Amino acid sequence: MVYFDHAATTDVFPEVISALAANLAVTGNASSLHHSGREARKHVEIARENIAMSLGALPSEVIFTAGGTEADNLAIKGLFWARHNANPTANTILASAIEHHAVLDPVQWLVDTHQAQVEWIPVDADGVVDIEWLRHRIDSDPETVALVSVMWANNEVGTVQPLTEVVEIVHAHKIPVHSDAVQAVGSLHVDFAASGVDALSLSGHKIGAPIGIGALLLKREYKPVPVLHGGGQEREVRSGTLPTSLILALGQAVSLAVQKQPQHADRTTQLRDQLITMIESADLGATLRGHRTQRLPGNVHFTFEDCEGDALLMLLDAAGVQVSTGSACTAGIPQPSHVLLAMGIPVSTAVGALRFSLGRTSTESDLHRLLEVLPGVVERARRAGKSLRAKV
Ligand code: PLP
Repeated sequence: MVYFDHAATTDVFPEVISALAANLAVTGNASSLHHSGREARKHVEIARENIAMSLGALPSEVIFTAGGTEADNLAIKGLFWARHNANPTANTILASAIEHHAVLDPVQWLVDTHQAQVEWIPVDADGVVDIEWLRHRIDSDPETVALVSVMWANNEVGTVQPLTEVVEIVHAHKIPVHSDAVQAVGSLHVDFAASGVDALSLSGHKIGAPIGIGALLLKREYKPVPVLHGGGQEREVRSGTLPTSLILALGQAVSLAVQKQPQHADRTTQLRDQLITMIESADLGATLRGHRTQRLPGNVHFTFEDCEGDALLMLLDAAGVQVSTGSACTAGIPQPSHVLLAMGIPVSTAVGALRFSLGRTSTESDLHRLLEVLPGVVERARRAGKSLRAKV
């Protein structure tokens, strides 16, 4: 099988598997005061320091969560509630229209149930947020804005966002900025302090740690209202017994991924550009989506004319090549991606999307294997689509 879905989840580093397995055999709750508890706490704090050092943060700015979704929920709900409680006029969230559902849905939930307002920041045809729209919106009515959320890089089309400009505009009015950096850490250079963002989400399983662990980097001056209440761990912001082994794994994975990031980015960028050229030269009615250069090193995203992405995915899977359409199904029904629609792509084209995401184990021979089967798969999916359309 050839795996082109590293953006969904990627291989755990072998070193991390060994360290994790060894630690699972050790008993200890990091909140206990006895010897075993102190040993567990030591692992947690070492991991916290490693993550902070690797990502330009302070150890006290690292809050462990169960993954990217929880980090996003804590940032969006927690910061909204804290800001809104302090100043009821600040009731509006500005979030980019192309956020992952882990941001979109908590925002929409606050609107539906907590009298929040949302204004979605538009993007251009490449999926880049409209900086002038943001500047105008913030400058004309800053008092109403509770927080701004713009992802570091998009998980579907790979477009990297102009965060420096976002932060400059938003901070002029002392409004907090959250960035979902789940796809960026390990792929791009990420420095929390230098970026200026106030809150940053990351997820272990995208960078070589297991599924089920992540973190929110959060500046000390912010006290989000907790989403989880209980034992008061993690600055009383995220209650729950700390998963020592997973935290240890995350600490190691972040260190390794950040150390290896420059070479990893060079290698995947080269494979990415090679794959883009191969697909574009194969005359498959395929159009590259996302920004051609300002994109994640491992992201290749195309729409295929007159094809259904799901049909392409299933046919490729049957041929031993695993890819993604990039967007989620709702109750098993494929939906056109909100990201592509926000980029102005019509529904009929958006349904033909496929994302090929590359990782550490990707090789040039994977690209050749894909190109051996892709023309036949596209032809079959197109024929199936045509006969389906003829019947409707
Ligand atoms: N944000 C982005 C941009 C993602 O790509 C993902 C996962 O695909 C998430 C958030 C959710 O992270 P997790 O799977 O760790 O909950």
